[in-house]
Amino acid sequence: MSAADTKVIGERAEAMLQALASISAEPDKLTRLYLTEEHRRAARLVAEWMRAAGLKVRMDAAGTVHGLLPASREGPSSSKRLLVGSHIDTVVDAGRYDGTLGVVAAILAVEELRRRQAALPFALEVLAFGDEEGVRFPKTLIGSSTVAGALRDPMLDLTDADGVTIRAALAGFGGDPDALEAEAYRHEDVLGYLEVHIEQGPVLERLGLPLGVVTAIAAQGRFRLTVKGEAGHAGTVPMDIRRDALAAAAEMALAIEAVAKEPNEASLVATVGEFRVLPGASNVIPGEVRFSLDLRAATDAARERAAGEIRRRVEAIAARRCVSLTMDAVHEKPVAACAPEMIETIAGAIEATTGEAGYRLMSGAGHDGQAMSHLAPIGMIFVRCRGGISHNPAEYASPEDMGLAVTALVSAILGIAEQG
Ligand SMILES: [Zn+2]
Repeated sequence: MSAADTKVIGERAEAMLQALASISAEPDKLTRLYLTEEHRRAARLVAEWMRAAGLKVRMDAAGTVHGLLPASREGPSSSKRLLVGSHIDTVVDAGRYDGTLGVVAAILAVEELRRRQAALPFALEVLAFGDEEGVRFPKTLIGSSTVAGALRDPMLDLTDADGVTIRAALAGFGGDPDALEAEAYRHEDVLGYLEVHIEQGPVLERLGLPLGVVTAIAAQGRFRLTVKGEAGHAGTVPMDIRRDALAAAAEMALAIEAVAKEPNEASLVATVGEFRVLPGASNVIPGEVRFSLDLRAATDAARERAAGEIRRRVEAIAARRCVSLTMDAVHEKPVAACAPEMIETIAGAIEATTGEAGYRLMSGAGHDGQAMSHLAPIGMIFVRCRGGISHNPAEYASPEDMGLAVTALVSAILGIAEQG
C-alpha cells in the first residue's frame, strides 16, 4: 500500500475520532461514561459506521456494539470469528484516541479488506465496548468481561455517584442485566482478539517507531505500607535516639526505586504515589507514615520476585531504624500475556507495513484484552502517541501513524487468514 493511501486512511480515522470526540457530557471537554446518554449517542454513531462498512450490527446486554462480517469462504474455521475492537467510554476530560482509535481502526480495516475483496475463511467481528475505564461505577471491563464469560461477579448493585445501580443503568440503556451471562462466547467459536490502542507511554516515540507489538498486559500488584516510629518534639529529642517514621519511609521509597531500576527482562516498574505523614506538623517528629506501592511487570514471576526483594529491603531498613513496618498486598492482577502466535503475526504485519521489525513492548496500562484473554488468544498493536501523554486532552496520534496502524491490522488479519 502506498504512503498516500495510508495517509488517506489515517485522515479518515482522524475525522471519525473528531466526530466521536464531539459526543461529550461537557461542552468544553471530552467526558463519556458508561451507559450515559453520550455513550448511547457514540454507540449509535459507531453502529452507523459499522453498517456503512457492510457489517451486521447488534447491541448486546452489556451495551457493547457488535458488527459482524460473515466468513466469505468455506473452510474449517468458517463458523468461527476473529474479534477486533476496543472501548468507546472515556475518563473525565479525556483525550480522543484512547479506546476509540481501536474501534475506528477496526471499522476502517473492514472497509479496506472489502475494498481489496479479501476472502476471509472466518467471520470478523468488530466490538465497541462501553466500560473499560471504570470511571462511572467501581468496576471495569464490564463489556469485554461479558463477551469473554469472565464476569465472575457482575456486582449489579454497585452504584455510581448518584446512587444509580449498574442494573438500573443497564436497563435504562436498553441492555439486559439478567442476560449478561448468556452473552458469553464459547472458546471454540473464537479464533482470537486483536486490538489497536495508543501506547499511552513514551517508548515508541523515543525509539522513533510508529507502531509496536504488545507482549503482555502487565501483572499489577498494589501494596499498602505502614511505618510506625515514635512522634516527639522537634526541638528536644536528640537525633541519635529518634525513630523518625518519615526518614525511614523515605529511605524505603528510594530502595523500592533501586529495585525497579536494576536491569531486568520484565519491564519492571514500581511507583510510590501516595505518602501520608502523621501527625503531619512542622514541629513534630513524624510518628507514622502510610504509603502506597504500585508494582507492574511483564510476568507474574518477575512481579513476585520484585515484591519479595522489596519486602526484604524495606524490612532491613525498618530493623536498622528501629521502626515497625507492615506491607500488605491490597490488589493483585495477574499478567494477561499476548499469545506468541499473535505476537509473531503482528510483528510480521508491522514489518511489512513500516519496513522495520515489529518492536515488542509491555503494556503497563490495563486494556479490554485482559478480559478477552480468558476467552481467546489476544494480540495488540500499539500506536505512538505524542509525549506518551494519555488520559489528557493533549493526547495525540498522527494521521500517518493511525493509517499505518490500520494497514498493519489489515495485514495481521490477512496473516491469520493465511495460517488457517
Ligand atoms: Zn483505553
